Amino acid sequence: MTTNIPATGPVACEICLKQIPRSAAESEEAADYVYYFCGGDCYQQWQQEPPMHHLGLIISGLGLDFESAQALAKTAASRLAPGAMLLAWYDRPRGRESPEVPECTSKPGWIAYAEGHGGDIRVDVNHGEYVFMFAAG
Ligand SMILES: [Zn+2]
Repeated sequence: MTTNIPATGPVACEICLKQIPRSAAESEEAADYVYYFCGGDCYQQWQQEPPMHHLGLIISGLGLDFESAQALAKTAASRLAPGAMLLAWYDRPRGRESPEVPECTSKPGWIAYAEGHGGDIRVDVNHGEYVFMFAAG
């Protein structure tokens, strides 16, 4: 799904979602997705995690809001799994997340929640501007 990744601008660490300059990020290129990490700790954590489908959407020129991002993410996840169910999300522009649960280890609580509830599809919109976690069901 990933197309036209901008060559500049900050990226979000795959694990902790901290924003980092692209030049300082560690990265790992998969078949159709580039993963970014703020450092070795997050990279190691990522390597130990169960497999997750990653979809990356880059939307520009739309004045994207949460509702549109969610609709696009849902469409993308449904292409992979028709019954995909939304478990958790993150809205960086408004600084909101769901569910609001305490951070468990070094990762945000809503990600831990989704992973603990069978979440296996993650849709990143604009490199962490919005993130949605789905269960394939
Ligand atoms: Zn990190």
